[in-house]
Amino acid sequence: MNAYVLPAPAATAVPVSGSGLLFPVRRVYCVGRNYAAHAREMGFSDREPPFFFCKPTDAIVPVPDGAAIEIPYPARTGDFQHEIELVVAIGRAGSDIAAGDALDHVFGYAVGLDMTRRDLQIRMREQGRPWEIGKSFDGSALIGPIRPVALGGHPSRARIRLDVDGQLRQDSDIGELVWNVAETIAHLSGWFELRPGDLIYTGTPAGVGPVHAGQTMVGAVEGLGELRVRVGSGP
Ligand code: MN
Repeated sequence: MNAYVLPAPAATAVPVSGSGLLFPVRRVYCVGRNYAAHAREMGFSDREPPFFFCKPTDAIVPVPDGAAIEIPYPARTGDFQHEIELVVAIGRAGSDIAAGDALDHVFGYAVGLDMTRRDLQIRMREQGRPWEIGKSFDGSALIGPIRPVALGGHPSRARIRLDVDGQLRQDSDIGELVWNVAETIAHLSGWFELRPGDLIYTGTPAGVGPVHAGQTMVGAVEGLGELRVRVGSGP
């Protein structure tokens, strides 16, 4: 095999709870506006088919369960916002997957934070431009350990919440998803062939808002553990 001309980028991986093993990340998909109350707070009301955007694989930051990590406040934003989400980890490939078969493609679940430079996302949205600078920046995809289906099954109802410095900001239930996990996989796999290693951030409930340097976010999905993330000062 030929040698690389540069050092090859390190693979991205997320710890799997209870095993000491790692889940290798291939792609990171995200669903937009998948809780009705959040769609309303973002200025939208009609139920619409789910839509998707991506984050680069190396935007992933694994967060150990229970231990706090610190992330830098990102550059070029004055409105750095939290979005607590259920994350689905795909373990089996498929295209055009029927909703009835979709859960067979799931390896496990995790708690995630889709961090967002909201001012930039909205500016891009208003100009009809891609969201990347608002959504897909370095360190924008936080994730806790993945709980395998073999260990915890498929959650259909579970409290999802996030607080900032002890104040509850987001509080809902994954049963409130507009498009549930199976339906989301069915839609997404019509646009892209899903492969083992793909992650899907399934969308955030209402209550998104800004965090500032020095604040600590604690986010959780019942049964999947807790993320503790402190926001540092500059990039
Ligand atoms: Mn999101």
